Amino acid sequence: MATELEEKVDVNWDDLTFSATPTKSIYLTTCKEDGQWKPGELIPYGDISISPAAGVLNYGQGLFEGMKAYRTSKGNIGIFRPSENAKRVNSGCRRLCMPEIPEELFWDAIRLVVKDNEEYIPPIGKGALYLRPLVFGSGPVLGVKPAPEYTFLIYVSPVGPYFKGAMSGIHLKVVENFHRAPQYGTGGVKAIGNYAGGMYPARLVKTEEFSEVVYLDAREEKYIEEVGAANFFLIKGDVLASPELDGSILPGIIRKSILHLAGTEFGYKVEERKVHVDEIFEGDEAFCSGTAAVITPIISMTYRDRKMIYCDGEVGKKTMELYDGLMQLLLEQRDDPYGWLETI
Ligand SMILES: *Cc1c(COP(=O)(O)O)cnc(C)c1O
Repeated sequence: MATELEEKVDVNWDDLTFSATPTKSIYLTTCKEDGQWKPGELIPYGDISISPAAGVLNYGQGLFEGMKAYRTSKGNIGIFRPSENAKRVNSGCRRLCMPEIPEELFWDAIRLVVKDNEEYIPPIGKGALYLRPLVFGSGPVLGVKPAPEYTFLIYVSPVGPYFKGAMSGIHLKVVENFHRAPQYGTGGVKAIGNYAGGMYPARLVKTEEFSEVVYLDAREEKYIEEVGAANFFLIKGDVLASPELDGSILPGIIRKSILHLAGTEFGYKVEERKVHVDEIFEGDEAFCSGTAAVITPIISMTYRDRKMIYCDGEVGKKTMELYDGLMQLLLEQRDDPYGWLETI
């Protein structure tokens, strides 16, 4: 199967990184400000044209999603909890004054673009086809107000791990002079404008050999929020803690799924609450989660002049157990009593 695929598309499945590879097609549709989305169509992969006065270019009116299509062990193409993504898109659309997308139309769009780009889905074990839905104000607008027209598009790309050498773990630095999002801002939705501000702090810490920054809450600077664009977890004994969703943290679908699995199948006491930065020095294991990162173990966390090392050489057992539990669901290697996996 793999060799057959390799002949068809020019992708080296063994060297996949988390980067954009051109594929066959893009899904695209539009909607007027007060109108209804109509079913879209596939266009050849390539550049799109846009008004210089587009709402997204001028005021960042737009959001994105991140999903993955995997080849499963049963030979299906699996997508994890897509209706959760559809719901999150719509909570973002409401927050950013964009027309909501009917869940049916969203799912039809996903199926259409994945099927058409099927040959770009990596063989099992080599990675996934990353799906990147975008919703943005594409109509021209000069004053600060919602754009008169919107575009919903999905492009796809085969990807490997989000962090380099991800499964051996990452080193993180807690930053104090930068925040990701304030409590009543747009941190709770995948607003395009949330991400540019994180590039500079990430660049600063990367020069010190850290993979990413860890943000503290903007109000008190005491509580862990997120790891760049992934949710944070701390294990201590039989407790699995993750920062509570208070508006500034992105409600990750992998986060929600891990909390559920950990409580029902792995016997953890699951705590969604404020996680004080001092607690990182008392944890047994720590990891971060996201569609892109899946579960990425944290080797060390540095806060001010203190460094906590969770694992050196070997990734923590409990983190690996949760990782395996989740991956088995994603790859249809076990029963899915939750109905989380949709196949195409
Ligand atoms: C997308 C994202 C996550 C992870 O969400 P998933 O639904 O699990 O992929 C976490 N934090 C931020 C800031 C994000 O943008």
